[in-house]
Amino acid sequence: MTFDELLRLPVKGFMEDHEARRLFELGLAAAPLGPCLEIGSYCGKSALFLGEACRRSGGILFSIDHHRGSEEQQPGEAYHDPELVDPATGLVDTFRFFRRTLDLADLTGAVVPIVTQSRVAARAWATPLSLVFIDGGHTFEAAETDYVCWSGHVKQGGLLVIHDIFFDPAAGGQAPRHVYELALASGLWEELPMTGTLGALRRRPAA
Ligand code: MG
Repeated sequence: MTFDELLRLPVKGFMEDHEARRLFELGLAAAPLGPCLEIGSYCGKSALFLGEACRRSGGILFSIDHHRGSEEQQPGEAYHDPELVDPATGLVDTFRFFRRTLDLADLTGAVVPIVTQSRVAARAWATPLSLVFIDGGHTFEAAETDYVCWSGHVKQGGLLVIHDIFFDPAAGGQAPRHVYELALASGLWEELPMTGTLGALRRRPAA
């Protein structure tokens, strides 16, 4: 599918169109170098763009989510969506929506869902990655865990991409900004232009 066709699919998510286009372009640049991985699949909106980017070069996207919804998506919280509750269990279950998205976009051959917490998936991970996209839980603990568990798997020349970076605390939660700044302070990453709240860093070659 073209980017514009992907954008028109009825998929729930929290990403502006210009951020989605940037994510797609970063995916196209990275995917020929190796597998991509995202943390925070939700209903599959970002997997559309990264997955299609991977598919075009015969690559693969691993997409990690426990699919029980993040803290702010639980009943009574600001981002709760009653449609996502499985009536059989009363629990949020976004995996059904994620699968539907992959089917809609014909991406089942390019996207591998990993249904667990990112820290569990990381325990035995050994595959170098061309791109890691952090868009999971937005508590400081969750975001920092994702950064600590996954950023070290990005190859030299590969990309670390972080969503929902707000430099004004009044505009949004600060955990993604915190990990973005941790990465910058490490000296391992070169800063690329930001698009909206989407930050992108390229792993420097070893000195
Ligand atoms: Mg996000």
